[in-house]
Amino acid sequence: MIPLSIPNISGKEWDCLKECLDTNWVSSSGSFLGKFEEAVCQYVHAKHGVVCINGTSCLFIALKLSGVGYRNEVIVPTLTFIAPVNVVRYLGAEPVFMDCDDYMNLDADKLEEFCRKECQITKKGLKNKKTGRIIKAIVPVHIFGNPCNMSLIMKIAERCNLKVIEDATESLGSYYCDGIYKDRYTGTISDFGVYSFNGNKIITTGGGGMIITDNKKLAKKARYFTEQAKDDSVRCIHNEIGYNFRLSNLQAALGFAQIKQLAAFIKIKKNNYELYKEELKNIEGIKIMGYPSGTMPNYWFYSLIIDKRKFGLSSEELMIKLAKNNIQTRPIWFLNHLQKPYRNNQAYKIEKAVWFWKKVLNIPCSTNLIVEEVKIVTQAIRRLRK
Ligand SMILES: *Cc1c(COP(=O)(O)O)cnc(C)c1O
Repeated sequence: MIPLSIPNISGKEWDCLKECLDTNWVSSSGSFLGKFEEAVCQYVHAKHGVVCINGTSCLFIALKLSGVGYRNEVIVPTLTFIAPVNVVRYLGAEPVFMDCDDYMNLDADKLEEFCRKECQITKKGLKNKKTGRIIKAIVPVHIFGNPCNMSLIMKIAERCNLKVIEDATESLGSYYCDGIYKDRYTGTISDFGVYSFNGNKIITTGGGGMIITDNKKLAKKARYFTEQAKDDSVRCIHNEIGYNFRLSNLQAALGFAQIKQLAAFIKIKKNNYELYKEELKNIEGIKIMGYPSGTMPNYWFYSLIIDKRKFGLSSEELMIKLAKNNIQTRPIWFLNHLQKPYRNNQAYKIEKAVWFWKKVLNIPCSTNLIVEEVKIVTQAIRRLRK
């Protein structure tokens, strides 16, 4: 079986874990927590990192600290894993769904149009004319490692007084190589960035996440909330409602060993991408997606665009046939504005997302994927074309 995306444990993971076990530091404190936060910050040139049990809890804390609350609204893409959408509801707020652009990221042009035509700047904030609610924030998601059009998103946010929380859970290591954010990493552009270290992400701690910010006060507050809001940890005084979201030292030890390999992982991802591209180039009806110009992605996922008329099979049909050949592939997420809990929420001119949803199939992309396996996948695709 060639899996879609699995962990690659080939660095100092055993050594770091052993150190935790030998020294008895296995729980919510220990040296790897700080070391892991520092190492991630160093990689992406960020000031502060706060570890959490997963990316979703990071998003929750980041939105909470951005002032999102009861009956507010938050702008989210419809095409994304559902986590950033659900988090809006955890806070009693409502998502407003946006379409995607040609790289499956939140469409910044449509966002601009939405804010200009459908909203009104008021003293209380940006008011959605249709719902009467105040929009507090935007959550752009750097889908599959593709950096979003952050220069336009940040401009809109500034004009409309919106907070921006980058969901960079899939894009650790992706950066801009042109424009005003040249040499800046995804997750470090806006008020908050969030990384995930779930098992399918580019590096993993089993489960885990990190909140990134350059604001010292907010970082402190984030840490406070993730550690049960302890105002006095000896006498157990809590002036606010906190959360038990802290990662363990065991997981941080894994993360510390993994982040050291990130650059090497990205290199492998890039090489495999180039190889796939080469091997698939003459198959009619199949195209491997490119990446936004002016960006250096982490090549987390490889997306095929399948034209059923020319290829003979839809992405769904190809997925089933490849599975019978022991090759695991996946369609993209069902669009969130059509998910049962969100059908009554506002969705603004969703068009491209529907197109992508019908056509995209993600193919095996693990960093332990070898050349022979890439060839097995591409040959199977070639063979299955009708
Ligand atoms: C993985 C992922 C998350 C959530 O991360 P967890 O660590 O699994 O909670 C959030 N958003 C997107 C887009 C993701 O892909």
